[in-house]
Amino acid sequence: MRLFETHAHLDLPEFDPDRDALIAKCFNSEIEYIINIGFNKETSLASLELARKHLHVFATVGFHPHDATDFDAELIKRLAREKNVLAIGEIGLDFFRNLSPYTVQRDVFANQAHLAVDYDLPVVVHNREAHQECYKILKQAEVKEAVFHCFSGDIIFAEQVLEAGWHISFTGTVTYANSKLDDVIRMMPLDRFMIETDCPYLPPHPYRGERNSPLHLHLVAEKIAQIREMTPNQIAEHAYENAHRFFRVPPDPVKPQHHKASHKRNENKEKQQSGKSG
Ligand SMILES: [Zn+2]
Repeated sequence: MRLFETHAHLDLPEFDPDRDALIAKCFNSEIEYIINIGFNKETSLASLELARKHLHVFATVGFHPHDATDFDAELIKRLAREKNVLAIGEIGLDFFRNLSPYTVQRDVFANQAHLAVDYDLPVVVHNREAHQECYKILKQAEVKEAVFHCFSGDIIFAEQVLEAGWHISFTGTVTYANSKLDDVIRMMPLDRFMIETDCPYLPPHPYRGERNSPLHLHLVAEKIAQIREMTPNQIAEHAYENAHRFFRVPPDPVKPQHHKASHKRNENKEKQQSGKSG
């Protein structure tokens, strides 16, 4: 199985004790790519930093509705040009917690949706109890590529989102006993969904209450597979291909050809370093 983690917050303090070790562990398991999601100035910058440091980690940048009052358009424009930034997000509306005034949320979301179109980047959407408002703003901005992260709508809204050409994405909430997403999972086309953990949040069953990590992503694939009566591997593969296409993942940088001499130098350096640490 190969997995594409499309929504992680590995820059957050929850991962301070073991961030690099955890990322290494992910890439030694079934995880092949990780998209690290920004949601304000600090986390957008930190996501880019993480992407620069790790091959196969990429970043998104944006201001979440909770952080809408701090919106900095110039920062997003600057970061949007970075080659490790693959999308604008997570941006959207949250009428559940309403931590920012309604009008500010709307303006900041619309502004960033237009920026995404201007910079030719897909959008990662955060939508909480704001289905039709989110839909309207994305449509008005003529956003062609968007994913509704942690999809929380019913079949009718899913159809509306898919009709617009957008994607839906599932977290560990599909494994919860009270999940209402089975019908959406049954009807979704296999070329229009993705999977994610939203870690450190939303740990899947049976890890509720613990810190979530990309290492639990396979549980999302397994649950969807069970509902669709397919193999987890088939679900993981569809989700992988969809994510790879949606985020337009660039090819790996070409490794420079080493001469024998420089190769030796590197070997020596490695020896010295391992000598030091050992
Ligand atoms: Zn998130």
